[in-house]
Order: sequence, then structure tokens, then C-alpha cells
Amino acid sequence: MDYPKHFDVIVIGGGHAGTEAALASARMGCETLLLTHNIETLGQMSCNPAIGGIGKSHLVKEIDALGGAMAKATDLAGIQFRILNSRKGPAVRATRAQADRALYKAAIRHMLENQAHLSLFQQAVDDLIVQSDQAVGVVTQAGIRFFATSIVLTTGTFLGGVIHIGLQQHSGGRAGDPPAIALAHRLRELPLDVGRLKTGTPPRIDAKSVNFSAMQAQPGDTPLPVMSFLGHPEQHPEQVHCYITHTNAQTHEIIRTNLDRSPMYSGVIEGIGPRYCPSIEDKIHRFADKESHQVFIEPEGLNTHELYPNGISTSLPFDVQLALVRSICGMEQAHITRPGYAIEYDYFNPQGLTTSLESKHIHNLFFAGQINGTTGYEEAGAQGLLAGLNAGLRAQDKALWSPRRDEAYIGVLVDDLITLGTSEPYRMFTSRAEHRLVLREDNADLRLTEQGYRLGLVDETRWAAFCKKRESIECESARLKATWIQPQSQQAQALQELTQEKIQRPTNLLDLLKRPEVEFKHLQALDELSQTIAPQVSEQVQIQVKYAGYIKRQYEEIDKLRRHENTPLAVDFNYQQVDGLSNEIKQKLSHIRPSSLAQAARIPGVTPAAISMLLIYMKKHK
Ligand code: FAD
Repeated sequence: MDYPKHFDVIVIGGGHAGTEAALASARMGCETLLLTHNIETLGQMSCNPAIGGIGKSHLVKEIDALGGAMAKATDLAGIQFRILNSRKGPAVRATRAQADRALYKAAIRHMLENQAHLSLFQQAVDDLIVQSDQAVGVVTQAGIRFFATSIVLTTGTFLGGVIHIGLQQHSGGRAGDPPAIALAHRLRELPLDVGRLKTGTPPRIDAKSVNFSAMQAQPGDTPLPVMSFLGHPEQHPEQVHCYITHTNAQTHEIIRTNLDRSPMYSGVIEGIGPRYCPSIEDKIHRFADKESHQVFIEPEGLNTHELYPNGISTSLPFDVQLALVRSICGMEQAHITRPGYAIEYDYFNPQGLTTSLESKHIHNLFFAGQINGTTGYEEAGAQGLLAGLNAGLRAQDKALWSPRRDEAYIGVLVDDLITLGTSEPYRMFTSRAEHRLVLREDNADLRLTEQGYRLGLVDETRWAAFCKKRESIECESARLKATWIQPQSQQAQALQELTQEKIQRPTNLLDLLKRPEVEFKHLQALDELSQTIAPQVSEQVQIQVKYAGYIKRQYEEIDKLRRHENTPLAVDFNYQQVDGLSNEIKQKLSHIRPSSLAQAARIPGVTPAAISMLLIYMKKHK
């Protein structure tokens, strides 16, 4: 049958990309249908129950700045929050939260069910209706035909999914869920460039069988961080510890002697896995000289005993998994509740997409998430929001939008994907962004919320809170500039006691804040009014003042980069010696040996940030 209502946007898939896509399009007022295999698995975390981390939290905060769900759900579900890189500069600081899997799913579902203009429907999509190179609808397993102006495809690891445990395989979208076989066949008939990738997950462990006293406890941070710009620590549920343990010589020996039973090393798996989330067998093979690897023992939730041992993702046979787990300190008696596995799936070359994530070959068809060759909830959510937004804009007959590389990590992500393509699962890092001093997690709202409001993604509550914050930052900066301290005054003496900083001539508080030893908290000790400033505001004032010079220099460096693009590179250039280049980029440059910086910049995976590092290195070693 043909469903009687014509939708503006249909989103296929209720994972991290699909839920953000559906919510974004519905927030814009577009009549949206989210079609997914199973309503019970909306927002399901297929792998570790954690959101954020380096590079990834930047994406989560950008999703949040554009009115998305991920950060809000994390604040409601997070059972441990930490700020990573807290001692480093603000560009690489990152918030990470361990989430209660069930609470996260419940929060996402609650948002979906309460979103105006959004309908849910549970059924597999088996076919796309394409007329004259234009997607117009979908057909479900039961033959129901739904029509819409735009369609967003976010089917994750499900297309042609094959699960591997040892040398045994079976079809599946992820453990416990069916694959999408009919749709995968249909998509292979369309003019799309299909490839295979793989990812994996560790076995889960019963906490009742673990000796935590043999492990190192890792508490969360105090004061408690939040993920959303609208979040409050009081929203968080009970907070718990994670634990750290290590693999050892015995673990490595068990893995080495069983590598021939690994689907990866026996050639059964063809898809390429995530370089930055390797399986334990991959780590033992690639870093043969390492005697031990860290394993983070992470709780899966408050009302479950299941643990996620982060760092031992594996597709070895179950008997080997059990032996390797039990060789690890604190897990000698461990009971595995779910075996680890690897999954191979279809993805589509993202070079076939435009900046708005629309297919170049089939109009009104948008792609987001793992099917574009990425890995991670955050990468999926960011693309989902962008694809949902553009699907909605198309339905409203408005100009499409996507952020530039200097506006957002979402811009970096999409530009990397569509320009360079990817032959291995792509994950975000701060090193992928050449403008990372400008693209901090703390200022995602200042970069994006106004645009989000204009596009209809941001509601009035968020907009009002944002305007208040932005105004407060401006007012406080102006006030500090107009507030002077005289030499030998009481305030000057207090400052010297706190920071050893001397005031030799009348100085305003904003200039004082530029001094490396002076922080906003010191000004609060001298100046009553600054004590009333909200932490989010004082943080911005401080960062904007302290890093103003670096940010300016970064832009100058980018300008120079353009001028130096044709700088020659010697054929025997030793890329191993260039600080800051990732191993992936060193390998690619050493293999291809570009003759100029311009050529190096065109190699897929060699980022503008890497070119900048090469330039700096060459300047130093002229
Ligand atoms: P998914 O979350 O997979 O969601 C896809 C959705 O589409 C599901 O709801 C599914 O039911 C639905 N669907 C699919 N086909 C159809 C259809 N035909 N009709 C209707 N609905 C359909 N990420 C990391 O960052 N690190 C890791 O270590 C890691 N390991 C992973 C290990 C495994 C085994 C898996 C499965 C994933 C792993 N991931 C990891 C990836 C992470 O889970 C994904 O990147 C993220 O979930 C992708 O989100 P998505 O929305 O694109 O797809």
C-alpha cells in the first residue's frame, strides 16, 4: 500500500546519525518520518557506552550548539565525566563521559517521541524508489510505500553486515540485530561506489566475577563537567569509578599462538578496520615490542553488572577470548557475558557526496554516519544533523548549508570525507583541523548557535541562553578593560601575593589577564564584580584574551601556507623526523614521496594541519 501522508523528509535508521537527522529536520518544522528496524534500539550504542573524548567532544558540542540531542542525552545518562588534556591548551581539551547505556537510549527516545513534526515507524526498509535520478520514497519489508521530498540514509553497520567470531561467521547488523540485506542489494544496483569496512568490539564481562582491588580505580572529575551548553551537573545520575588494568606477556602469548584462528589474519575478513581503535590481536601484531597494553574497565550502567573492557576488542574464537581475558590482572575468574566480534559491512565512497551530504548521483538522497566510512557515535551524529538539516532545507526549497573548515569540526569532517574519501574507518582528531585554536569545544556555541537559530535548528530557550552568555562575555571584557589598578594600591599588593606579578604603572584588568601568571580567578580576588560572573563566561573571557595573539598568528600561518604551496620536497625527505605528524601521514608521505608541498597536500589523508607541520619543520631545518 501507499502510506496516505507525503512526508517532507524520511530518515532510514534510528542510530546516532538517524536520530540527529530526524530531530534536526523536525525541529525545522519539516514533517519527518524516522523508519527503523526496531523502536527499542533507537539511540543504541553498538560499542562502548561513552560519548566524547579528544576531537569527538568538539563534534558533540557542535551538535549541541546547533540544537542537537547527543550532549543533552549524555548529561542525563553520564555516570562518569572527565576533562581530558586539562593541562594542555584549550584547543585540545576534551570532555568525555561514560554513559549508562539504558539511560542514554531512554533519553534519546524521550526526545524523539516528544519532538513535534516527527513520526516513528518500525520496519525494515528494503527498497528505495528512485525516479529520473531522484529519490522519492522507500518500500518497507511489508511492502508499505512511504513518499517524501528528501530521504536520509543512515543504516550504520547493517548493510550486508557479516559478524565474525573466530572463523565462524553469520549475517547480522550488530550482535542481536538483523542485517539489511535487501536494501544492500538494491543500493548496489544504483550508481554508487560501494566498499567494505570492518569494525569490532570486545567481549563484555560480568562485574561479579572481577577483582577490582587488583586494578587501579579511576574516578571522574570534580567539579563535575557537563556536555551540553545548557547542561547542569545536577542532571547527572549517580557517578561511578572506572578501573585500569593491563595485558601482559601471557595475554600476548595466547593471542600470538592463536593468530591463525583470527578471521583478520587468516584472510577471512576483507574489510579494513579502524586504525585508531585496533583489535587486541592487531595491537600485538603491529606493536610487537610492547610488553603491555592498558585496558580500561568501564561500567555499562548503574543497573547492570556488565562491564566494557576498553582496549581488547577482538574477533578471536571464544575459547581464546576467555583465555586472554582471564590472563589479565583482576580478571582471573572473569565470566564473559557476550563474546567480542568483528563486523564487516558496506559503505559508500563519500567522494560521491556534496558538502551537504547529498548524493551527486541521486538527487534528494542524503547519506550520514557509518555508511560514509566513518566510525564513532559523534562522527555519525554530526553528519546526521547536517544531512537532516539539508534534507529539510531541500524540502523547504531553501539554499543548502554546511560549515566551512574554519567554522566547525563538522566542516572538517565533511570536507575530509568528500575531498579525500576514506579507505579505512575515519575518526575525528583535533590534529585533522588546521584551525584548531579557533575551533575549540568551549566556543562551539559562539561559532554555531546563531547560524543554527537562523536555520531553524535552535529553539527559543537555547537562543535566549546563548544571547545572554554572548552579551555577558562582551560586557565583562569591556568592564575589565575599563577597570584600572594603580601601582602600590591594595589590589596591586594582593595580586603580587597571589601571582608574584608586579604592577609598575596603571594597568587595566583585561591587560592584566594577558599576563601568563594571571588567571580570571585572581582577578576575582581583587575585583568584587568579577565574582558574579558565570564560569562559562569567565572561561571565554580568559581564553579570548590569553590566546588572541596565537589565534592571529594561526591565521597568518594559514595565509603563508597558501603562498608556499609549491615549495619543493626532496625525494629523500625524512618524514619520520617531523614532530606532530601522525604515523598514518608519515607512512603515506614516505610511500608516495611527493615532489612538492602542493602534491603532498593532494594525497588523501594528508591534512592541511600536516602541511603546516611540514612547513614549520622545513623552515627550522633550512
Ligand atoms: P548505527 O548506530 O549502526 O545505526 C544504524 C541504524 O539503522 C540502526 O538503528 C538500524 O536498526 C537501522 N537500520 C539499518 N538498516 C535498516 C533498514 N534497512 N531499515 C530500517 N532501519 C535500518 N565506534 C567507535 O568509535 N569505536 C569503536 O570501537 C566502535 N566499535 C564498534 C563495534 C561494533 C561491533 C559496531 C557495530 C560498531 C562500532 N563502532 C565503534 C561504531 C559505532 O557504533 C558507529 O559508528 C555508530 O553507531 C554509527 O552510527 P550510525 O547512526 O551511522 O549507525
